[in-house]
Amino acid sequence: MRQIIRWSLTVAPYDADVWHLADNLTFLEAILAAQREQFPYLVQRRMLYSEAGAILHDSGSALVRVPGVPLRPPISHPWQVTCLRCDGAAQFTTRRDAEWWRDIHEFENERDGHIVRVLLQTDKSTVDMADVIVLDLDREM
Ligand SMILES: [Zn+2]
Repeated sequence: MRQIIRWSLTVAPYDADVWHLADNLTFLEAILAAQREQFPYLVQRRMLYSEAGAILHDSGSALVRVPGVPLRPPISHPWQVTCLRCDGAAQFTTRRDAEWWRDIHEFENERDGHIVRVLLQTDKSTVDMADVIVLDLDREM
């Protein structure tokens, strides 16, 4: 039989991405890694395999609060828009609404040349959608 202790990281107990850290660390090593990466929760999962590779037992995920790492507020409105020209800004739950706000704001202030950035806030970082290149894979040649 073989036991694997899988360690992962997450920012919140629910509705957050889980990032695989490593297998078979000691508890102390895993806590130190979580502190280094600034994740407030460490996820432990114990799995027991037979010699043939079949899973015999799975403990499920157990969450440990990592000491010394502050909790981050849960992100409820991940789409953010900010105007580069004025103080205009807003937050939305969908990209469609964010782009709708951008289009209206840019149209209403067309004479002054307002330009709105659409940002996607994730658990790890803020993504400027202007930097994201969308590949059109189904394009006819
Ligand atoms: Zn503006």
